[in-house]
Amino acid sequence: MSFSSDVKSELARIEPAKKCCMLAEIAGFLRASGSIRITGGSFAIMASTESAAVARHFKVLIETYFRNKVGLAIGGSHRPGSQGKKGKNTYYINISPDEKSMQILRETGMLLIREGDDYFSDGIYPPIVKSKCCKRSYMRGMFLSCGTMSDPRKGYHLEFVLDKEQSAMDLRKLVGSFDDLSASVARRGENYVVYMKKAAYISDMLGIMGAGSAVLEFESIRVNKSMHGEIMRIINCDNANVDRTLLAAEEQRGWLVKIASSETGREPEADELTDPLSEFWSKGLRQLSPQLKEAAYLRLYRPEASLTEIGESLTPPVGKAAISKRFAKLRALAENANGDAKGDSPR
Ligand SMILES: [Zn+2]
Repeated sequence: MSFSSDVKSELARIEPAKKCCMLAEIAGFLRASGSIRITGGSFAIMASTESAAVARHFKVLIETYFRNKVGLAIGGSHRPGSQGKKGKNTYYINISPDEKSMQILRETGMLLIREGDDYFSDGIYPPIVKSKCCKRSYMRGMFLSCGTMSDPRKGYHLEFVLDKEQSAMDLRKLVGSFDDLSASVARRGENYVVYMKKAAYISDMLGIMGAGSAVLEFESIRVNKSMHGEIMRIINCDNANVDRTLLAAEEQRGWLVKIASSETGREPEADELTDPLSEFWSKGLRQLSPQLKEAAYLRLYRPEASLTEIGESLTPPVGKAAISKRFAKLRALAENANGDAKGDSPR
């Protein structure tokens, strides 16, 4: 089962307690899934879904609210335009004129009267979504019909696919009527997609529709993902520190090379550089004070150690400030040696 279908099964198990919410949920479902057929001069309603749970849920909900009989049929093929996978069943809900189809169309605001004439509305009928409880129920009905969301482990995306622009615009407005929540609308082929991509919005949306378990799972995945991100940030930061340490060590060795070159009057051979016991170093560093010499040799022996580690290796160990001071002196000596070299002054 996908995350999306888990959400739908959870939502389909909710039984709205209030009459107003029952009607709102039915209206949301029919707005997105319903189509109208004319039979014998009257209107029949047909709605389809690929979920057996959703089909049963609305059959019961409509029958409870309207005290009528709702037909439920299973078909192996798909309704036109359905994006479902092959081999999936489609469930058809049928409401005939004898079973109050006209009353349902009127009460859900799908069939309105303007200047004495009937007309079909593509929008969301405002009186149905007046209170917060009904807004939530309406969106739940719509999500059960045309909503999907991606697995939060893979990405954050929740959407409603509607075939009428007015329905999409009205749904966006409905979503926007909740605090700190908003959705966007995009055209996709013949359809209008109302969607959100912010994790916080999707989480709120699931909560608003009543999918409590889905919110918990969503949030725990979200926390894990952000913890993973935090751990990666720390690891990368550690790598950066190591890189900085090595750069600093290389720079400090450069100072020692300058001091020793100036003292010996020659550049080191390649193998002398890495051998602290070579003549280049023993002659080159001999003028240093015992404190500086000790620090310089530790640097040569431990090319990958940080300054703190070098300070700790001294006898007695010294802190970072003290060891930094010694290297500051070595740096000054190196700069002076450089100056000498540049000035070509004889030694
Ligand atoms: Zn309500």
